[in-house]
Amino acid sequence: MPRGSRGRLWAFALGAAGCMLLLCLGHQAPGLLGPTDSTDTAIPQPTVPPATRPAPVVDAEPVSTVPPEAAAQPSAAPDGSVDEEPIRLTIVYDNRPADPRLRTAWGFACWIDLGETVVLFDTGGDGATLLENLAALGFDPDEIDIVVLSHAHDDHTGGLQALLDANDQLEVYLPGAFPEYLKARARERAVLVEVDGRLQITEGVWSLGPMGTSPVEQALAIETSQGLVVVTGCAHPGVAAVAGSAREMGRIHLVLGGFHLGDQSAVEIDSVIRQLQLLEVERVAPSHCTGDLAIGMFAEAFGQAYIEAGVGMALQIPR
Ligand SMILES: [Zn+2]
Ligand SMILES: [Zn+2]
Repeated sequence: MPRGSRGRLWAFALGAAGCMLLLCLGHQAPGLLGPTDSTDTAIPQPTVPPATRPAPVVDAEPVSTVPPEAAAQPSAAPDGSVDEEPIRLTIVYDNRPADPRLRTAWGFACWIDLGETVVLFDTGGDGATLLENLAALGFDPDEIDIVVLSHAHDDHTGGLQALLDANDQLEVYLPGAFPEYLKARARERAVLVEVDGRLQITEGVWSLGPMGTSPVEQALAIETSQGLVVVTGCAHPGVAAVAGSAREMGRIHLVLGGFHLGDQSAVEIDSVIRQLQLLEVERVAPSHCTGDLAIGMFAEAFGQAYIEAGVGMALQIPR
């Protein structure tokens, strides 16, 4: 066989094998990890055009987006590399209950364990409750590297001083519009970073930048293999506006936190739900200031893609 023909034959064979592989991957729903196949997390999820993407399906058990055997320990990928640990998010301060070992109180804080780095997003309303909840979960304030404050309301900044007292190695990221007394408090014992635009805080973790005016608020977008995980404090600028800003960065797997819809009518809440659906938000975990009516409507609208959130709720998301 002439050398050129043999080359073309090889190219054809390789192309056919590639197509087969893509077809196999194409059957994988993003966000859906088969409970029997722990190697799924090692396969890069293909980007499927929105029109053909299957409806999001989630585990019945909302504490994990990966099967426990896949999340528990790194597994070998087909190419021999070892999977990275999943990103673990735990709500450590919230007025909505989830884990009976923890105290509920008005406010919000979310512990984000990235393996090499721990980010605490907001600090709840008071330090004693925050520290008590961290202890009950086996979390040590010394493990925290970075504190991100969403906005200057007391129910998100009240635990800051207790953290600064417990850990003098913190970096604190807050919108530049924060009141001077809070900046001064942070500056005394931590490295203060004033956020004035979209900013990568640590690898794969972004501040969407200050939004809104009363108050100015920042939300986080965390890159994962499933898409972006957006964490909001109160979402005063509007949760749809926050999600819209994150959507500029990529597909949104999950929006978690306070959606600030407690004083909204069913018509207004319905409009917000539609906007999030138009933005192709796959899953929602509304909590804190979302309000009972809105929480019920989100549960109804998102079905299995709704995650009941509250203090102590933990999620693991493959990176
Ligand atoms: Zn607020
Ligand atoms: Zn709040």
